[in-house]
Amino acid sequence: MLLFLTIVDTLSVMETKPTPNSSRRKFLGRIGLAGIGAVSAPLIVSGCNNSDSGKTNSVIKVLTPDNKLVEINTGALKPVPESSDKQHLQKLGREGMKGRKFVMVIDLARCKNERACMKACQSAHQLKPEQHHINVLEMNDEESELTYHMPKPCQHCDNPSCVSVCPVDATFKREDGIVLIDNERCIGCRFCIAACPYSARTFNWTEPKDAEKYSDVPYNMELNVPQKKGTVTKCAFSADQLREGNLPYCVSSCPNGVYYFGDSNEDLVTNGTTRETVRLSKLLRENAAYKLMPELGTKPNVFYLPPRQSNS
Ligand code: SF4
Repeated sequence: MLLFLTIVDTLSVMETKPTPNSSRRKFLGRIGLAGIGAVSAPLIVSGCNNSDSGKTNSVIKVLTPDNKLVEINTGALKPVPESSDKQHLQKLGREGMKGRKFVMVIDLARCKNERACMKACQSAHQLKPEQHHINVLEMNDEESELTYHMPKPCQHCDNPSCVSVCPVDATFKREDGIVLIDNERCIGCRFCIAACPYSARTFNWTEPKDAEKYSDVPYNMELNVPQKKGTVTKCAFSADQLREGNLPYCVSSCPNGVYYFGDSNEDLVTNGTTRETVRLSKLLRENAAYKLMPELGTKPNVFYLPPRQSNS
């Protein structure tokens, strides 16, 4: 019975101390109390029963996450729902989509620097104009004197240096190839930003855009919203859209057919503009596809098709 308990009447807590306004700590606090309840039945120290409402209540002592011993009337406790919206979203976010291995192909010959991809991404992910999960860079090839534009999202590496340096398992690689960040676990150390050779990550130094508007929205790891001050954020391959059977925000918003997206297990990718589905292996082979900085051994899942002279 005491296994899943949470406090519903704060007045009955004899001593309470508000924790910092971090939702992660509040969440952990609830788990901490429930967990202690589960193992501390012997800690019921008072026989102070109250049967006013027909229920037999007693007072128990539990240790809070900030090491305060508090007394709680058991009549003020209720079972914790087994799976809240938030817990459900956390579970989905960690698991990924079984049997999938997502991949993106970016055709540089088609990019006209319209930046519709950037705007759609910023709008979906509660980002300020100066924050990017995907950035369109102007490139100059000295040898060919070619100028072109290169969209650069997270490369969702198979050997991600960002993941191996994270001390708290806040960033992780899923079975379906997507590298995500759990901003409820992120402690803001920024080791991952330093470790990423593609500069794919950015830090929320200040309160995010429209913070007030998102204050009651449960955190969705796959959408990475609400954004949170003091944590790292980056491209998630629009994992929330993939789960709905849609293409990523950047892919479906590009008017020029720059992006193909799909599943390398099926060897198929779909162009976001023309909706044409083609063999991934054929597309890569016939168009001299390449990856960014392959010599680093990070094994990206983003491929590039080279720019052409006419694109300058
Ligand atoms: Fe990590 Fe950077 Fe690779 Fe993305 S591009 S998976 S952030 S190392």
